[in-house]
Amino acid sequence: MSVRVRFAPSPTGFVHIGGLRTALYNYLFAKANQGTYLLRIEDTDQERYVEGALENMLTSLEWAGIFHDEGVVLEKGQVAERGSKGPYIQSQRLSIYQKHLKTLLESGHAYPCFCSKERLDAVREEEKKKKGTPRYDGYCRELAETDVAERISNGDPYVVRLKLPKSTEIGFHDLIRGNVSMNTDDMDDQVLMKSDGYPTYHFAVVVDDHLMEITHVIRGEEWLSSTPKHIYLYQVMGWEAPIHVHLPNILNDDRKKLSKRHGDVAAEDFRRKGYLPEALVNYIALLGWSPSENKERFSLEELEECFSLERVSKSGGIFDVKKLNWLSSQY
Ligand code: GLU
Repeated sequence: MSVRVRFAPSPTGFVHIGGLRTALYNYLFAKANQGTYLLRIEDTDQERYVEGALENMLTSLEWAGIFHDEGVVLEKGQVAERGSKGPYIQSQRLSIYQKHLKTLLESGHAYPCFCSKERLDAVREEEKKKKGTPRYDGYCRELAETDVAERISNGDPYVVRLKLPKSTEIGFHDLIRGNVSMNTDDMDDQVLMKSDGYPTYHFAVVVDDHLMEITHVIRGEEWLSSTPKHIYLYQVMGWEAPIHVHLPNILNDDRKKLSKRHGDVAAEDFRRKGYLPEALVNYIALLGWSPSENKERFSLEELEECFSLERVSKSGGIFDVKKLNWLSSQY
């Protein structure tokens, strides 16, 4: 099986140091295994889209030397054409998601939900009081088929939700975290398709990782609790799930997640300040991964040869700008 991995940023701003490390580990894992690394732009949340973010991200990745294997690296301001080999852009793949959604609706694993925002807010508030977590109450699961058909033909706006089975344990093995499982009673009937015809992240990510034949999903640990939902989707679609690898967060020296309050966190900040990309890449490679040989200075080519997921640590690395500066001075 040849390794296929992806970096899948949403164009909502800049490339965070954590995102750059995720891209780098995917890239290095592909290179170390003669595999393929692809870039996928996850822009299905139109409200969060930030003008210029895509070009900005491409510039940062290019600066760092992280080039994707499939397709072309775009020129500034140029968008990949439909059918070109990438970067894959989800907003150009809407008909693909619609097609797979139809399969789920037909097999009864998904259902249209017509609840208004007001009703959802009230229900979530109520459920929060009862069970401690704001949830959807499943009201539209019980709608009669004729009722649904009539409302759709009337043009009533609706979303499509995943129909989770009751009291079912969904588990998977994470390469870093080990066995993880969650009961469906603790999960929500996830919205898969929004009323604007765009899929949610949770649906698009599963469809795309399957269609793009991704073998290892390597991403930040903030997605760990969403993965059981994804695993359930793989099950009902009859698809084999990829191997999951959730990387621990990069932390500040107070052990909280690295954030802008503590100084520079965007790859472009370091680029603007004149850091050498080789030094930054070297430094972030070591933030959560330890080489088998005892040295600190690695070129990208050396990292490409020796990177392995087995040596990624379970705890988050601490971002220390003094250490970065010291390493930079060695170049
Ligand atoms: N679009 C998600 C993000 O920006 C990607 C998560 C994933 O890699 O599955 O974090």
